[in-house]
Amino acid sequence: MPPPSGCDRRKELPAGQDDLVERLQAGPAQGPVDSVPFPVMLAPMSNNRATAPVRLRRYARMALEGGATAAKVIPAQKVVTADWVRLKCQYGCSGYGKRLGCPPRTPTPEETRRVIAEYRWAVIYVFDSNRTMRLRRKWVCLLADIERQAFLDGHYKAFGFGAGPCRLCADCNADGLCRHPETARPAMEACGMDVYATCRNAGISLEVVTSAEATPRYVNLLLIE
Ligand code: SF4
Repeated sequence: MPPPSGCDRRKELPAGQDDLVERLQAGPAQGPVDSVPFPVMLAPMSNNRATAPVRLRRYARMALEGGATAAKVIPAQKVVTADWVRLKCQYGCSGYGKRLGCPPRTPTPEETRRVIAEYRWAVIYVFDSNRTMRLRRKWVCLLADIERQAFLDGHYKAFGFGAGPCRLCADCNADGLCRHPETARPAMEACGMDVYATCRNAGISLEVVTSAEATPRYVNLLLIE
């Protein structure tokens, strides 16, 4: 299986996905692809450079250089999990159960709480964009690149979380193994993270987008030690 498109080191699309990309780039997508609720926010983030560990700012910079609107380092304890988050996936999301990066195949909120407790820091960053499939794949690849760079720098526990259902493949191999395990990562909300509360804990004002004219904001997170 060739690697997905979206970043320089993954230029080829899996067979059958070009049509999907073009269809989605032609305009706002309809149906299941865009009927999935996403965490979005409308306000800029505050700057915490005075308190963020200097050695971790590199990964926030990588996100900004990759197109992120804002990025910052926060204590991992500010990442909030809640049991209700899974209900939003199970009742209301058309993607529930259809992708390996979505519940019920992802860690439960309780499992995620235990994982977060094993970390000291998190890099949170956001993209402001009307979603297109190619952009979303690019962000997934960027997350994988940041996680990989952190690992190579000695932060061996680094692990990333994306936003929304994985779209690296047009059809997820949901009953088998992931075709791109080196790149695909679960969404924050798919693992029970309360993205709104996490953003607000980080000094971010996060509100529900209530009109089709508003530009969505996508939230990504890297847990790191
Ligand atoms: S990379 Fe493909 S197989 Fe893996 S979770 Fe994403 S869509 Fe599914």
